[in-house]
Amino acid sequence: MKNIAILGSTGSIGESALKVIREFPREFRVVALSTNANCAKLYDQVREFKPLFVGVSDLTAAAKLRKKVSRNIRFFDGAEGLSALVSQKKIDHVLMAISGAGALLPLIEAIKYKKQIALANKEALVMAGPLVMAAAARNKVKILPVDSEESAIWQCLEGENKRSLKKIYLTASGGPFKDKPKQYFRNISIKEVLNHPRWKMGRKITVDSATLMNKGLELLETMHLFGVSSGMVEIIIHPEAIVHSMVEFNDGVVMAQLSQPDMRIPIQYALTYPERLKNRLQAPDFAKLNSLTFETPDLKKFPSLGLAYAAARELGTMPAVMNAANEVAVEEFLSGGIRFNDIPEVTAKVMRRHRVKRSPDLSAILCADHCARTDARKAIEDLN
Ligand code: MG
Repeated sequence: MKNIAILGSTGSIGESALKVIREFPREFRVVALSTNANCAKLYDQVREFKPLFVGVSDLTAAAKLRKKVSRNIRFFDGAEGLSALVSQKKIDHVLMAISGAGALLPLIEAIKYKKQIALANKEALVMAGPLVMAAAARNKVKILPVDSEESAIWQCLEGENKRSLKKIYLTASGGPFKDKPKQYFRNISIKEVLNHPRWKMGRKITVDSATLMNKGLELLETMHLFGVSSGMVEIIIHPEAIVHSMVEFNDGVVMAQLSQPDMRIPIQYALTYPERLKNRLQAPDFAKLNSLTFETPDLKKFPSLGLAYAAARELGTMPAVMNAANEVAVEEFLSGGIRFNDIPEVTAKVMRRHRVKRSPDLSAILCADHCARTDARKAIEDLN
């Protein structure tokens, strides 16, 4: 029996994880659940799974929910509350399903307390990959990827000698605007962006998938998780989203992982590893699929990819700055403040103005993140 804490249980990954857990009641026990502010959904989850610990990041929402849950449940509130929650002894595994930079501190704390990590959040690795991976190595903690592409790469590399790895193909579905002309991007609506052709996901990552910044973040995630340089990672568009990534070895062999685009698959593998438990999900039906296609991404249409490659070559504080500026720009787009094509524009501007600090410690990273957010707001004001 694995005792699991799900941070961000009311989000898209969190809900899919609970679906997986419902299928295997003898394998898992949910001991902790957390949300940012979705207390109605968290309350239902608490009633069903009866965890020992509950976390709510938003203080106003926390105050409301605290009155409703049983006194036997230990309650944690605020951003610091999450860091305290993950240190609890009764937790073995932490599924980090919070989106955005807020996952970084609880993740580092969970590693410090030697919890096994199933990592769905990519921003924490983008911001502080070297620090997170070093902490994991020091504490002998495995970080098991939940992101479907990272899970695919991990599965392809299992049992292989890292030295024979030549290249990683990181696949991207291309999002909803792959075939739209560049001049179309100015007037793309929020509704169009949120209508992703292959994956049903949270709002932030859906916007990132439309700009392809999601793939840019995954480029950095891949580099840190598997210890490779940006030159070893090639992003390739694969609209069917059946091949979830591939690895190429020195002898000209390429291995790929294929499955339906359903997040329950990588979530289940990260939770049940090294076992593969029988579930009710179907494998791809190749006769019906007919063809799988691949193409190179258009960097002119998707400048976010170029920004991510630049940040990946630069490293230091630059990826954290890129991530922070992108997060602010995405939020602003979602609230109707800027246009779709302003998102990479704002991010690029903030990156150009940033003076990179090499080998930053945690406080330098958080500082760069903070400044980049302020600078992104300024860049947004300058647009209007
Ligand atoms: Mg992904």
